[in-house]
Amino acid sequence: MTSFGDETRESIQRHVTEEATRVNWVRLRIFYIFVMMIEPLLMVFYDLPRMRANMAPFWLYRAYFGLHLAVFVYSTVNVIIAGYILKRPFKRWTEYGAYVSASLVLTLLSFISGLDQVQSVQITVFVINVMMSAMAMQLRMPYNIFVYILPYMTFVFGLYQWQGNRAAAFSNLANGSIFFLGTIVATGFLYRNFKTALEKTRMLESANQKLNYYSTHDPLTTLLNRREFERCVSLSVNELEKKEGKGILILIDIDHFKVINDTYGHLVGDVILKAVSQRLTAHLKDKGYVARWGGEEFLIYLPQETDQHAVILAEELRKCVSEIPFDIGDERTAPVTISLGIATFVPPYYPNFYFAFKEADKALYRAKAFGRNRAEIADSAKLQTTRERAES
Ligand code: GH3
Ligand code: MG
Ligand code: MG
Repeated sequence: MTSFGDETRESIQRHVTEEATRVNWVRLRIFYIFVMMIEPLLMVFYDLPRMRANMAPFWLYRAYFGLHLAVFVYSTVNVIIAGYILKRPFKRWTEYGAYVSASLVLTLLSFISGLDQVQSVQITVFVINVMMSAMAMQLRMPYNIFVYILPYMTFVFGLYQWQGNRAAAFSNLANGSIFFLGTIVATGFLYRNFKTALEKTRMLESANQKLNYYSTHDPLTTLLNRREFERCVSLSVNELEKKEGKGILILIDIDHFKVINDTYGHLVGDVILKAVSQRLTAHLKDKGYVARWGGEEFLIYLPQETDQHAVILAEELRKCVSEIPFDIGDERTAPVTISLGIATFVPPYYPNFYFAFKEADKALYRAKAFGRNRAEIADSAKLQTTRERAES
């Protein structure tokens, strides 16, 4: 299976079909709205006066009138159908529906061009209808054949039935047939171009998404990397300035991770890093941001918090890592503990994010010094004085 990024060829093909169907219905709707305006004009200013004047052949103008009315009604119904389809998610039948809708209206129009043969040798209207539809719609093989076969057969029938001049009939048949075949080939090429352009865009989008993901996430833990974390936090801090509450930072460091690596090996160390990340993110759900700050260090930010909440949360996080040992394969488990340093800050005053980070780092250092597997909060009195200093 060939794939573009994470997408399979099937999913790209589906996307192309969906887009082609959407384009087809949008353009059909525009076409039908246009036709809805033209047909009454033809009936009122062309068919009706000739019917009233009983112009010969008198059946012809009644036939024109009837067909123009049929096209008008058909267009109105299709405008409603198109509106319905365009508001809803893609379904397979909507693709085929567009082909059927186009084929039937072209057949009706071919019938009208056929009637033109009664008084004329021109096939211009037939040619224009087919050409316009071929340019506007995305018709893939072999559906383009299905779309045009009925209008073409109607065209041939019209020549046979109503073109009295044999030479003109043969000439029109030859020209019309070449044009029909040319249209099949041309729509095939047009669809190919449409598809290639769409595939390329899709590939680039997919590659861009991947690049974006890799440049913002840590590959091992899939947590945010430092750069992305700083970007997200700075946006959130700007928001926080307008709201109540403090920003909180919790810096986490796995205890004696070097020993874990030395005891179980680096691969197991990696497994534990991933598992710890998962426990932290699972506990936080979607509140705030978590980054892999360094080797076995994580940094958490939450907006709109209080000091009390920060302490409770840090304690919960500590427990969610230490209480259940980590599965390291071969039915073995490894106990892991973490130390945490908490700091809070109130933008736009000092202490700001970077000051708070330094304080969280110092608090973490204290947690390590006091024996690890514990959380320490930065000296709030000191933070308070710094804030007051900024306010004064
Ligand atoms: P402390 O409790 O004081 O934090 O002790 P520690 O052993 O955790 O601290 P130290 O800074 O001495 O060691 C951190 C170790 O983390 C050393 C390094 O090899 C390991 N480490 C960093 N990144 C990775 C990684 O991606 N995978 C693995 N397996 N180990 C890592
Ligand atoms: Mg460390
Ligand atoms: Mg450590």
